[in-house]
Amino acid sequence: MGSTSIPCLWITFFLHLCSLMNTGKAQNAKEVILLDSKAQQTELEWISSPPGGWEEISGLDENYTPIRTYQVCQVMEPNQNNWLRTSWIEKGDAQRIFVELKFTLRDCNSLPGVVGTCKETFNLYYQETDSEVGRNIRENQYVKIDTIAADESFTQGDLGERKMKLNTEVRIIGPLSRRGFYLAFQDVGACIALVSVKVYYKKCWSIIENLATFPDTVTGSEFSSLVEVEGMCVSDAEEEADNAPKMHCSAEGEWLVPIGKCICKAGFHQKGDACEPCGRGFYKSSSQDLQCSRCPAHSYNDREGLWRCDCEDGYYRAHSDPPSVACTRPPSAPQNLVYNINQTTVSLEWSPPADMGGRNDVTYRIMCRRCSWEPEECVPCGGNVGYSPQQAELVDTYVNVVDLLAHANYTFEVEAVNGVSDLSRTQRLFAAVSVATSQAAPSQVSEVIRERVQQRSVQLSWQEPDQPNGVITEYEIKYYEKDQKDRIYSTVKSRSTSATVNNLKPSTAYVFQIRAFTTAGYGTYGPRLEVTTKEEASASTIVSSEQNPVIIIAVVAVAGTIILVFMVFGFIIGRRHCGYSKADQEGDEELYFQCTKTYIDPETYEDPNRAVHQFAKELDASCIKIERVIGAGEFGEVCSGRMKLPGKRDTSVAVKTLKVGYSEKQRRDFLCEASIMGQFDHPNVVHLEGVVTRGKPVMIVIEYMENGSLDAFLRKHDGQFTVIQLVGMLRGIAAGMRYLSDMGYVHRDLAARNILVNSNLVCKVSDFGLSRVIDDDPEAVYTTTGGKIPVRWTAMEAIQYRKFTSASDVWSYGIVMWEVMSYGERPYWDMSNQDVIKAIEEGYRLPAPMDCPPGLHQLMLDCWQKDRADRPKFDQIVGILDKMIRNPNTLKTPLGTCTRPISPLLDQSTPDFTSFRSVGEWLEAIKMERYKDNFTAEGYSSLESVARMSIEDVMSLGITLVGHQKKIMSNIQTMRAQMLNLHGTGIQV
Ligand code: AMP
Repeated sequence: MGSTSIPCLWITFFLHLCSLMNTGKAQNAKEVILLDSKAQQTELEWISSPPGGWEEISGLDENYTPIRTYQVCQVMEPNQNNWLRTSWIEKGDAQRIFVELKFTLRDCNSLPGVVGTCKETFNLYYQETDSEVGRNIRENQYVKIDTIAADESFTQGDLGERKMKLNTEVRIIGPLSRRGFYLAFQDVGACIALVSVKVYYKKCWSIIENLATFPDTVTGSEFSSLVEVEGMCVSDAEEEADNAPKMHCSAEGEWLVPIGKCICKAGFHQKGDACEPCGRGFYKSSSQDLQCSRCPAHSYNDREGLWRCDCEDGYYRAHSDPPSVACTRPPSAPQNLVYNINQTTVSLEWSPPADMGGRNDVTYRIMCRRCSWEPEECVPCGGNVGYSPQQAELVDTYVNVVDLLAHANYTFEVEAVNGVSDLSRTQRLFAAVSVATSQAAPSQVSEVIRERVQQRSVQLSWQEPDQPNGVITEYEIKYYEKDQKDRIYSTVKSRSTSATVNNLKPSTAYVFQIRAFTTAGYGTYGPRLEVTTKEEASASTIVSSEQNPVIIIAVVAVAGTIILVFMVFGFIIGRRHCGYSKADQEGDEELYFQCTKTYIDPETYEDPNRAVHQFAKELDASCIKIERVIGAGEFGEVCSGRMKLPGKRDTSVAVKTLKVGYSEKQRRDFLCEASIMGQFDHPNVVHLEGVVTRGKPVMIVIEYMENGSLDAFLRKHDGQFTVIQLVGMLRGIAAGMRYLSDMGYVHRDLAARNILVNSNLVCKVSDFGLSRVIDDDPEAVYTTTGGKIPVRWTAMEAIQYRKFTSASDVWSYGIVMWEVMSYGERPYWDMSNQDVIKAIEEGYRLPAPMDCPPGLHQLMLDCWQKDRADRPKFDQIVGILDKMIRNPNTLKTPLGTCTRPISPLLDQSTPDFTSFRSVGEWLEAIKMERYKDNFTAEGYSSLESVARMSIEDVMSLGITLVGHQKKIMSNIQTMRAQMLNLHGTGIQV
């Protein structure tokens, strides 16, 4: 054995080695090198055993860098067993180790004389240990990896010489369980040069893929294994939902099969392998979005990395609005709000707002407030009011508000709202209207009960309707024979909730329907009730008319006599004009049997007591409970109280009492009013409940009118009603007067003080008496024609020659109209009666009150026609007023039309301002003294300063009632005019 045995060979070997090194594979970047013999320039100092076997030799690589190699070439000696062991190799994370050997191996054929001993392979071993072990090589502790042979020992050179070829062999070991290992090379008689030994394992190097970082990962232990690795999102990125990033590290150290990904968070966008914040003026609302977007309209941002932009002042984003939509604002108020009143239903309609706020989710909501006559006292309408289709979230621009109270003031606000209205703290914008409901007819009588059914009569009872909408004064029972071909209806009236219908045919099916009546008119009929009358009692008592003509004649004669008696008696107790008339109810033409009674003067009765009991019901005094005094009549006090009749509801009543110590004549005159009133039955005429004559005090019991007399009521509520409400009152009075005039009754003292008003603002004519009863009217004065006359209310012919007719009542009605429209102003102000008579004779008439629609003043002037035949009838007046109510536009007052002065008479009426010494005096004269302190507080101490006031100045005094503002303003204007022309030419009457 010895290295010198074949020295010539080694020279050739090394000459070639340098060029062979160049063909080696470049180092793979995915490899982690544990041992590289080439990299070490100092001695390797591996353990070689036995000595003389493997030998460490220095050489140069292709770059002339020194390298360390091991060689052995004991080819001549048999039984070679030369071991070479590497230094201890710590394996680290590795599981699968690659061993790359580069070597040359001499072809035995090229060596002469070595037949039998020369080998062309060597063996590769490894030994696992947790640390370095001693220097002895114990062969049995090594595990063989492989026998390594040269692929090609020599190549043919260009010049025909044989060249050595560098072999590269790679073997894999693993899985390893200890901390490290040794490699060992066993030579059994070959000629080998071990040029380099490289030990490495493979890793998948850290990468960023799909915005996820995957760390360095050691490959699996098996060739086929893939190591699954979870990625970590780069900063400002997040895992895509249910799609966490994963990759697989192959045994070759390659990343394979990427799954899932990360995406840039809201406010960030991807640039390369990183997420960058969105710039100023940009946003990205969601990680799902790829790009940052520019801020939408009416929004901004002045920072980077934002997920949305802030809204500009006054603009908002609804909770449901995505950041990509423009910021919006609440809509402006709805436009062109109009209303329509149908009894207790108000229909509101409007146009959409001019500015929808940039949104298309505009809906409308309604705010309903009920107001007392003082406008500032309004309360929400509450749950009793209904809205159709609904109160809020209205898509269409209309709503019906139902179930309002009759004759009440309401304010409706219509607000347009959109998705951002509730976010805005700016003032609500709405359109508003004030509406006064008219009086509604009662609702249906829903259930009728048959109490008693006889052969010729049926007794019915029923419940008051759920919504009477006023005081039910009577019920009308309509009935007809069910099988009758020409359906002829008959009607019966009842004041209570029961009635007996007589004169029916036996064994006949009848259909009954009932409706209620209030001052607002009739309600609709309730459901039909069918009742069949009983059969005739006994057949034997019935004689067929065909069988016995004598009996027929007798029956007819008796019936005729009875009818005659009734007619004559009827004429005495109250003349009636009877006949069929047609009425249209719910589209059906129906026939009614109507009777118009005629008024009978109680004075025509010899015994006035008889007259009283003819027309008035005698009441039991125990049914009446007097509660308090409410006024003074000519014959005694007027009180309010309660009346409870057996089987009836307890009702409020007014009780007129006859003072003690009365004379018989006084008693007669007192009860005369009851005899007259008792003949009347109309919703606009005060209703007599009855009289108490059989006890003391003698009493007349009348329905209670909560608001007392009309003149005082209007003065108390000066300026507080709408024109429609005032016309409604006038219409009621006219209807009451039409009824009275139809009955042939002439009132003679029609004036606002003799009209009573109930809680529903229904006006009723009252104060009935004979002509001389006018004596108790404080307004009545003696005239030259004898007797007392309320001059200011009375027609010329009645003053001049006592010609009292319905036409003279029409004149008085005209004055009542004037009183109503001027809120209880005294007709002709403080002119003397004499002056009034003179002025009227000369053709002067009262001017239109302030804010009075011209049509109404024209009607007044018509009532004051000199020739009574030219005056309208009450029937026509009702018609004219109805038309006005139906067409409220006709009641609009063109600005300035009713401002004074119109006629010379007005100059008389207008206070002469130059005569007032102070503002207080002036305010008293125009009946506005309640505002004295307001004027003083604001420094208006002289009339000159007042004359310069504008409407704004008047409002700034704290005068909130519009009627009062107008009244004061119109007087200021007149004052101004008078100041300009101190010598105005008022005509003296
Ligand atoms: P008379 O004697 O009818 O003029 O009544 C005197 C006053 O009593 C009237 O001015 C009313 O204020 C009051 N009064 C009369 N009748 C009624 C009534 N039915 N309801 C309420 N108040 C009444």
